[in-house]
Amino acid sequence: MSTQNPHNICTWNEESGCVACGLQGKLNCRLNPRDFTFFVLNQVPSLVMALFGLILIGLLAETWWPLIVYAAGCIALWGLGIETRILCSHCPYWAEDGKTLRCSALTGSPKWWRYRPEPMNKLEKTILLLFFSFVVLFPVLIEAYGIWVMAIDYAGFGLYALLGMIGVTVATLMAGLQFLYILRYYFCSKCVNFSCPLNRVAKPMVDEYLAKNAVMKEAWERSGYKLGQ
Ligand code: SF4
Ligand code: SF4
Repeated sequence: MSTQNPHNICTWNEESGCVACGLQGKLNCRLNPRDFTFFVLNQVPSLVMALFGLILIGLLAETWWPLIVYAAGCIALWGLGIETRILCSHCPYWAEDGKTLRCSALTGSPKWWRYRPEPMNKLEKTILLLFFSFVVLFPVLIEAYGIWVMAIDYAGFGLYALLGMIGVTVATLMAGLQFLYILRYYFCSKCVNFSCPLNRVAKPMVDEYLAKNAVMKEAWERSGYKLGQ
């Protein structure tokens, strides 16, 4: 057990310990900078389209509260560390010693919270799903509202503005779906934060990883989880 890895999580042990492991390649259990780059690039289109659409609504309808609400939600989730508290503090990547997180998605986030080896509870899962739904759906709903406002004042806005708003709304929706699709099928299917409500790793692999990590295994069993059932 090293000072860098006080909970003796295999993800942070020497890679030589992985040689005989059956989970090699099946889980994103080793730090891989390419995964981080891919994760960041994957969320750029949806965030750019969301901001573009909300700024457009602000300019056309002269109403800025949607952009302010969206920015406040994103700042709370990422800037104030709500996501890292309810989600990441349960993740094996969080267990490394140090002041900043290193992982495939939020590398660089400050580690304000202690490591929690037990699974996320129901309240944490509910808050996380509400925030994720807000980040993806709120801009689309506001833009759809913009279409409706333009449609009922068609004479004032004109055909091109209406078609433009429809295009921006469809593009924002598609970018959000693209983000979710890649997240679910590339990241969530291999993620070692097994109690996240989006996680898709099969139970036998979860059990195998827990069996290698006594601190997690004990915490999961204390919370009622049964290995091998
Ligand atoms: S589960 Fe642990 S031991 Fe196995 S490959 Fe991943 S990091 Fe290595
Ligand atoms: S849950 Fe995801 S973003 Fe959070 S520490 Fe784990 S890998 Fe990183």
